[in-house]
Amino acid sequence: MIAQIIVDVPVNRTNRPFDYRIPAWLSPLIRVGSRVVVPFGPRKLQGYVTGITDEGTDFTDHARLKEVEQVLDDTPPLTKELLDMSEWMSKQYLCPWVTAVQAMLPAVLKGKSEKWLTATDDLDEDTCGNSGLLWELSRKRQLPLAEVEKQFPEEYLLVPGWIHSGLLATEYQVKDRITRKHQSFVRCLLGPEQLAEAIASLPARAEQMRRVLTLFSQHADQSFSMQMLRDEWGITRSPLKSLEAKGWLVIEQVEVYRDPYANRKFSDKAKPEFTPLQKQVLAPILSSIQNQEYAAYLLHGVTGSGKTEVYLEAIEKTLEKGQEAIFLVPEISLTPQMVERFKARFGADVAVLHSGLSQGEKFDEWRKIIRKQVKVVVGARSAIFAPFENVGLIVIDEEHESSYKQEETPRYHAREVALWRAKRNHAVLLMGSATPALETYALATRGRYTLLEMPERVGNRPMPAVHVVDMREELQAENRSMFSRKLHEMIADRLEKQEQMVIFLNRRGFSTFVMCRSCGYTMRCIHCDISLTYHKTNHTARCHYCGYTIAQPAHCPECQSEHIRFFGTGTQKVEAELAKLFPGIRVIRMDVDTTSRKGAHEELLSKFRKGQGDVLLGTQMIAKGLDFPRVTLAGIIAADTSLHIPDFRAAEKTFQLLTQVGGRAGRHELDGDVVIQTYTPEHYSIQHATRHDYRSFYEDEMLQRRRTGYPPYFRLVLLTFSHEDVPVVIRSAHTMADYLRQRLAETTILLGPVASPIARVKDRFRFQIMLKYRDEPQLSALLAQATAAFDEWNKQQKVLMTIDVDPYVLL
Ligand code: ADP
Ligand code: ZN
Ligand code: ZN
Repeated sequence: MIAQIIVDVPVNRTNRPFDYRIPAWLSPLIRVGSRVVVPFGPRKLQGYVTGITDEGTDFTDHARLKEVEQVLDDTPPLTKELLDMSEWMSKQYLCPWVTAVQAMLPAVLKGKSEKWLTATDDLDEDTCGNSGLLWELSRKRQLPLAEVEKQFPEEYLLVPGWIHSGLLATEYQVKDRITRKHQSFVRCLLGPEQLAEAIASLPARAEQMRRVLTLFSQHADQSFSMQMLRDEWGITRSPLKSLEAKGWLVIEQVEVYRDPYANRKFSDKAKPEFTPLQKQVLAPILSSIQNQEYAAYLLHGVTGSGKTEVYLEAIEKTLEKGQEAIFLVPEISLTPQMVERFKARFGADVAVLHSGLSQGEKFDEWRKIIRKQVKVVVGARSAIFAPFENVGLIVIDEEHESSYKQEETPRYHAREVALWRAKRNHAVLLMGSATPALETYALATRGRYTLLEMPERVGNRPMPAVHVVDMREELQAENRSMFSRKLHEMIADRLEKQEQMVIFLNRRGFSTFVMCRSCGYTMRCIHCDISLTYHKTNHTARCHYCGYTIAQPAHCPECQSEHIRFFGTGTQKVEAELAKLFPGIRVIRMDVDTTSRKGAHEELLSKFRKGQGDVLLGTQMIAKGLDFPRVTLAGIIAADTSLHIPDFRAAEKTFQLLTQVGGRAGRHELDGDVVIQTYTPEHYSIQHATRHDYRSFYEDEMLQRRRTGYPPYFRLVLLTFSHEDVPVVIRSAHTMADYLRQRLAETTILLGPVASPIARVKDRFRFQIMLKYRDEPQLSALLAQATAAFDEWNKQQKVLMTIDVDPYVLL
């Protein structure tokens, strides 16, 4: 038998399966999807089996093929579906196949971890036969595999067969600092009659021993953890040890999952009576689930309209059909609150995957999935790769969130992968948002997704009142503070009433646009209609899509004011200003600095929930998903910042942020206010956000996108080049541009090469090319070909090229 194997060398040259012979001793274990070790040149590499054939594909002499050396897992970590999906991803996102595979698996499987051989329950003294290894294992129950290979070199070759027949299993032992992997369990070795005799034979004062044995006589065949015996029955270690010495019971080490949510109580919240709107949107969703047919829904519901209850109901119905569900949330809204709602509803059926878990914890959650011990996965982007085999429903909450796009290879979008999975499984895809991505909404209006709308909040709670403050007028009124008079007044009012507020600083990494503080004028590219980026070194403003450059003016071209300069402020500055203006105010600041420690994010939120702060101050981080009953004011310090990032999605991002932040206020009994401070109150993204009018925003923004040629009218591909030497990277980018220009369809537009907005990272200079196209079926193939050509002419130079299909970050 021959296995086709992709190896862990993520470069183009090796991006295809290679043939290996399967030695007879490994054949019981090896499957399509298995992770293996193979020789590759002088090295030994990890690889994945993509196919098993009699013939092989290389037309070489079978005898000359190298052999698979090891199969690493008892059960293949890749299902057939995941394997196919990885192949599709490698074509779609132009990455090596093995890179796509690795994105699907927990990190533990990539690194070094110790492997142990363990005996299963089926192995006992009777099944050992005359094997020294089995004999040893029947006593010790587990041994490191490396030791087995050394001590029992001949029997080692029989191990795959024994695993196959269920006598043995292998386990990866991951060492985590916070590990709680094993617990002591007590198991009784006596039958009912022997037990009765044993109890009778105990001396009168052996109170604890009697209690233990009585417990076992009442619960035959059950084992109890030592911890539970101690906590609930007050039984200490020494009587257990004595009973073990008599040979009546055994104390065993049993693996338990590290559960990051252990010791936390989940309230059992009853299902609410659905509102008429919820019923209306649920009807078609549930019917698709019932019929097990592919369907894609976009649930557009305002903040607080009860979307989450809709998701929960859909998941419940999926599980009732005996199928599995994947629930994706943006990393940042995977809050304890969210997890709690799931655990309350689905209990132990839920696995949770997010970046806050240790590698061991992630691995444990993943194992629950592959062992079919859970039916629901709640997680961030990569949870879309959950190795379920009977997916009936995929939910994407806040589907517009950019965190669904992975910003490193493979540069996939979880929504696109979800769509692939839903189609493949005849499953339902349910995407929800208060502010759907333009691309998604456009497809919904064209019937590719079914649009479901929930335009009202649950219980007819009013949307918050939005006040837009024109900061230009503040300047004219001699108010140079970062707080407008309106916001100042409202903060004072909330402090007086002891209500809570969130203050949001709109800051997206990039604050070097040029703005006139007198009139709000910003400099934009005459060709691309995106904000020009300020360059300190030569005082120019430059377009990072096409390279258009002008000198930074000393006076505003609109109003002649000299208050024209680049713009930006930080959370610490806001915090200091708050403390100065409102002595004694309790501010909880959430930004990258205060939340980098594990668990800090949760702690700060819980402090705020308990009322230990008046103000929650933060960046993007606080905009989403949080639900605090006592928050009645949301303030946005500088709504414009996101409007002027050099990104064609700037207006969309601004609208989304303003809507999300506004959604934080007045969700419960108390009414809410939102104050938006801006230098451009007339901008349509701000105007429509003020009126909670997604549809009008969508229409205006679509006009812009059509006029300027951006998605959803055009699609983009971004090629980025980097190298330590400017001339080298420029030459490379130009060579590629020429290569592409000669081969692209006439309708495809090539912009650049031009310096990237972030022109230098870690001493590497960055240049980019952007492709805009409507319809170019051969583009993937052409780019794959271009990549191969690039590898040829770039052999010595070591220029790094990345290709981002449908990019989100254009920096
Ligand atoms: P969204 O996800 O759309 O922002 P949620 O699902 O979080 O909205 O619902 C907002 C609030 O309304 C939550 O506190 C939720 O418990 C409550 N809620 C949702 N549906 C109902 C209902 N049918 N009856 C009563 N309360 C509901
Ligand atoms: Zn001006
Ligand atoms: Zn331009």
